[in-house]
Amino acid sequence: RTTLDTEWAIAWLQAAADAVAEHRVELSELDRAIGDGDHGENLDRGFSAIAAKLREEAPATPGAAFKLAAMTLMSKVGGAAGPLYGTAFLRAATAVGEATELDPVLLAGALTAARDGVVLRGKAEPGDKTMVDAWTPAVDAAKSAVAAGADVTSVLAAAAAAAEAGATATDPLTARKGRASYLGERSAGHRDPGAASSALILRAAADTA
Ligand code: ADP
Ligand code: MG
Ligand code: MG
Repeated sequence: RTTLDTEWAIAWLQAAADAVAEHRVELSELDRAIGDGDHGENLDRGFSAIAAKLREEAPATPGAAFKLAAMTLMSKVGGAAGPLYGTAFLRAATAVGEATELDPVLLAGALTAARDGVVLRGKAEPGDKTMVDAWTPAVDAAKSAVAAGADVTSVLAAAAAAAEAGATATDPLTARKGRASYLGERSAGHRDPGAASSALILRAAADTA
């Protein structure tokens, strides 16, 4: 594929909703170990609402689809993850603007803007055991893929693989941000739920491309 269109953006959000629903219990179990056990339910509420809205109205551009996702996540998800994912999608929407087709450069720009939004909002650094640990390697991999001349499908495949590796790599870390940080060193030995959900969502993006 040379570009991603609105149809892809809608298909991605629907696939992400399916993935979150499928992994709802698992995500909440991760959160039960180092947080308050609601991450799967929180995200499922938000992504189900996105999928429901997309069945009623079709956004006209990828940016409009991202904006719909952002608004829905902010109003339905709550907790830490709602505003963080909401900001990520809102920044991605702004980055792509009115474009009807996303080329590799615009795609990498959207992923970067999403990650930057999460960092600006949550102030987490790589290694703090948060969703930033999935997003940052994903953005780095996407940028490298673009520099190597990859098409959008390969850019997303690289981002998803890096996000999955990044999520796995949170296992031994001690949380320094969010609810899990209250546990201090007892947070080590568990995967960060937000990093795990970020990897699922990026995998859905790659699978639909
Ligand atoms: P809550 O902790 O309010 O119950 P969730 O369980 O839905 O919210 O989300 C928890 C996830 O949010 C964590 O696993 C982590 O990935 C992410 N998170 C929490 N705080 C931050 C932060 N400051 N920066 C980035 N991500 C964060
Ligand atoms: Mg929680
Ligand atoms: Mg909570």
